[in-house]
Amino acid sequence: MSLAVRALSKEYPTRSGPLPILRGVNLALGRGDALAVMGPSGSGKSTLLHILGTLDTPSSGGVTLDGTDPFALPEAELAAFRNRRIGFVFQDHHLLPQCSVLENVLVPTLVSRGTAPAVTDGYARQLLERVGLAGRLDHRPAELSGGERQRVAVARALVLKPMLLLADEPTGNLDRKTAQAVGELLLELHGQENTILVVVTHSPDLARLFPRRAEMADGALVDAT
Ligand code: ADP
Ligand code: MG
Repeated sequence: MSLAVRALSKEYPTRSGPLPILRGVNLALGRGDALAVMGPSGSGKSTLLHILGTLDTPSSGGVTLDGTDPFALPEAELAAFRNRRIGFVFQDHHLLPQCSVLENVLVPTLVSRGTAPAVTDGYARQLLERVGLAGRLDHRPAELSGGERQRVAVARALVLKPMLLLADEPTGNLDRKTAQAVGELLLELHGQENTILVVVTHSPDLARLFPRRAEMADGALVDAT
């Protein structure tokens, strides 16, 4: 299990010409690795995470996941690859308001074929127990605290056992104590599941929990461990 990023660059077309954001990012991570990416607002952290998550494409350079270049896959295969192999946690929980906690965690399994519903249902319940929400399965997101909503988002990100777990400012909307707890939970589950975890944050408190840290500077990743 591996993630390799080579000479990755990204520029956005703008009216005044191409705007370079990433200028040669290199990164190699393996199973069990956890990296916190720091850097000021606007430095390209989300852009990098979106490309790692195959939600956006590089301008040049490449990304391989377990030796596969996802951007070389046809659209439908890429969507299936993303669904099965990559889990996302965003700053905003992005839970469906009309669905229960359990249903929200099961959302990624609806588009994924191959595993029996009873198996995924059982695993979703187990994950919700592990994030401390066994007593909240029937709640709607509006009936949860901010920290609980992010815990649901973490369980949802893991329900298809992804190899790569990506989180963009996952604690950005939480108070300090709750942020700490959610950060610790992310790392704990990552450790248990042996994923590759990349978290983008401008919170030094969250970054400090990580064994490996890097800083986004002038469009490149600089080791800051
Ligand atoms: P960060 O997450 O570190 O705050 P982002 O990756 O969101 O930074 O954005 C980096 C820079 O890229 C910002 O200056 C932003 O204005 C610019 N940017 C992001 N998306 C686009 C886009 N679609 N078109 C043009 N510029 C963009
Ligand atoms: Mg961002």
